[in-house]
Amino acid sequence: VTQFNLHGIEKYKIHEMQEEFAMQGINRYVRLLGVISWFLIVPGCINSADKGEASYDINAARTVKNLIPVAIIGSGPAGLSAAIYTCRANLKTVVIAGEEPGGQLMKTTYVENVPGIKRLLGSDVVAGMRDQAIKFGASIMPGAVVHIDVTRWPFMITLHGGQELCAMSIIIAAGAQPRFLGVPGEQHYWGHGVSACAVCDAPFYQDDEVVVVGGGDAALEEAMHIANYAKKVTILVRKDHFRASAIMQDHLMKGFKNIQVLFNVEVTEIVGDGVLVTGVQLKNTKTGNISKYPTSGVFLGIGRVPNTQFLPHEIETDQEGHIKLKGRSQETSVPGVFAAGDVADPVYRQAGVAAGDGIKAALDTERFLNNLGLTREMIQELESQFVGMAQTDSSNETLESLHSLADLEKVLAESKTPVVLDFYTEHCPSCLQLMPKLARAAHESEGKVVVYKVNAENLFEVAKKYNILKVPSLVVIKQGKEVARYVGDDASVDFASINGVQVLLKRIAQF
Ligand SMILES: Cc1cc2nc3c(=O)[nH]c(=O)nc-3n(C[C@H](O)[C@H](O)[C@H](O)COP(=O)(O)OP(=O)(O)OC[C@H]3O[C@@H](n4cnc5c(N)ncnc54)[C@H](O)[C@@H]3O)c2cc1C
Repeated sequence: VTQFNLHGIEKYKIHEMQEEFAMQGINRYVRLLGVISWFLIVPGCINSADKGEASYDINAARTVKNLIPVAIIGSGPAGLSAAIYTCRANLKTVVIAGEEPGGQLMKTTYVENVPGIKRLLGSDVVAGMRDQAIKFGASIMPGAVVHIDVTRWPFMITLHGGQELCAMSIIIAAGAQPRFLGVPGEQHYWGHGVSACAVCDAPFYQDDEVVVVGGGDAALEEAMHIANYAKKVTILVRKDHFRASAIMQDHLMKGFKNIQVLFNVEVTEIVGDGVLVTGVQLKNTKTGNISKYPTSGVFLGIGRVPNTQFLPHEIETDQEGHIKLKGRSQETSVPGVFAAGDVADPVYRQAGVAAGDGIKAALDTERFLNNLGLTREMIQELESQFVGMAQTDSSNETLESLHSLADLEKVLAESKTPVVLDFYTEHCPSCLQLMPKLARAAHESEGKVVVYKVNAENLFEVAKKYNILKVPSLVVIKQGKEVARYVGDDASVDFASINGVQVLLKRIAQF
């Protein structure tokens, strides 16, 4: 492990490694995940003697470790746009990527309403922003924030895993996540027929009949995407009309013969055979009649909730959890903490708006730090306290692919150790995040476990054979028989950390 200061060499190394990755033909999405680098964070952040009221005295920064002038929480359009501006203003910036690097745009296909971009894949739009932020010096850090302490300054940010950062300013750009129905069966069949990501999971429903719940833009977009795969898609709308924009309704009416709509229905339960979804129970919102509607997939398209659960009460939010802002600025109720994008936007929720918010938040942050006395000279004085970054070459380890059912049969016949099949799709960010961790953990197992990646979309017959309805899914096979299975959102496994994946493979090695 080599440690680099945040200046100079580490930026060069990131670019060098990215180019090397591109040369190896590794999927472009990998660039978005921040898996190629991570930070060396010394334990602790603020000495106990420094604890107390937030004084906003620049001298208080002199005694802390893991210091960073700007910490941005979230790597979607808001966070990355903010990073472009803060870095260009020569303010050292760490972007904490969260569990969905790149944010919501990673889950969509083409985007054609971001000004200046006629039509591009959502992931490419984000890749452009990320590359631009890195070009100006942003450091992207994997991981999620679990707590912020704003009762002291510099603020203390705690990550899942316990690492601590001391931030002189914070931009919260944590976006939003799917809203759930809260009905019986939803959690039980999550990943076994219930999904909130059509782009990730629609390929598993080829020639099936599925339902999409919701009447807004998100529901219609999900339905139109799934219609490319499924035999029939039924949109279930609680009211007697759509909430979606006129243009989306127009798109729907024009070209999708396999989509039908049921108005005035509410899903009251998701039912199945214990393993897979077989239908939904519906209540007619006008008559109260209960009926059963057969389906093998339920896609939730009922909106998103802001990711603000980890915030302290000092940062004020509205009833839904959106961060409250002051006037036309991006300032929150805590000086030095700013917010941008969907996390503070109950109305517009568009990438262009989020990016604009990010820019405003960055300009507000710059003004705040200037007023505090963070001059160029002061930055030089504090530099030795800035959080360091590390890299190893373990990211070069990759998983071997299976290319056919025959390939798989040969591997299973020859292997004496447990074989793990890692089912993924190229549009699934969490799958691509998991891969390098699996590769590293498999390498360290010294042959006690072998792991193969299986593109579930291309090798549909293998995915079907193992009943894969959610990615990532790890299927463990020993002596030709499935002995265990772990779906990506399995709470019993910590897929987010290398440690969690190492522990899992050690467990599998003992099967
Ligand atoms: C299916 C779909 C299609 C869409 N299509 C379009 C379109 O065509 N055009 C358009 O303009 N908009 C579109 N949008 C909306 C657009 O994607 C969002 O408005 C935009 O992504 C919001 O950006 P954001 O940066 O605020 O948040 P997000 O994109 O949600 O990003 C949030 C980031 O915060 C991170 N995060 C969350 N919690 C934490 C934590 N505790 N610690 C650290 N990080 C955290 C996440 O990992 C993520 O990186 C679409 C949205 C969806 C769902």
